[in-house]
Amino acid sequence: MLIDEYELKLFTPPCEPGAEKWTAEAQLKVDISEVLPYLNATLRGAVYNRAANALTWTKGGRNVAFHAKRIMAASLADRAEAERVIRGLVDLVNRTWERRHELQPDFEMRRRAAPMEVYQLLPKTNCGQCGQPTCFTFALKLVAGQKEPEDCPPLQGPAYAEQLATLRERLGDMPALGSG
Ligand code: SF4
Repeated sequence: MLIDEYELKLFTPPCEPGAEKWTAEAQLKVDISEVLPYLNATLRGAVYNRAANALTWTKGGRNVAFHAKRIMAASLADRAEAERVIRGLVDLVNRTWERRHELQPDFEMRRRAAPMEVYQLLPKTNCGQCGQPTCFTFALKLVAGQKEPEDCPPLQGPAYAEQLATLRERLGDMPALGSG
């Protein structure tokens, strides 16, 4: 078993409970980087970014991200759903790791920007000024075409000029993924 324990962190909406969904993050004690190419080979629609060491995936309309030592899931109704979804994703990683000898790893980097790649270009302070509970949630909305880089006030400052330019470039040719 690759992951045998993790710490679950939940991000709740800052205001208007019920208006927004929760985001969950499993903080891992092991590095799951090596399993990402195997997940990329088996999960339909997954987007693997080798340079960012991240893989994103949409399951049941829910955005999911696998990073070296984190697994994140958005659009969760409550704590119980967060615990169930994260448990399922951890099990998926463990099952895939156990089957790795039967699989051909896929290192292909898709052209479309992944949420984790977009997230890396944000201030990552979770300040909430954009109306989202976390920068990662904001990144998911950017990728889905539901938010614009201008909706993040700190990103407009001179300290982030380069990141903002890169973000605009990466988002420029992306199709919106629709609502949800
Ligand atoms: S306003 Fe920007 S820095 Fe603040 S939480 Fe939103 S994305 Fe993150």
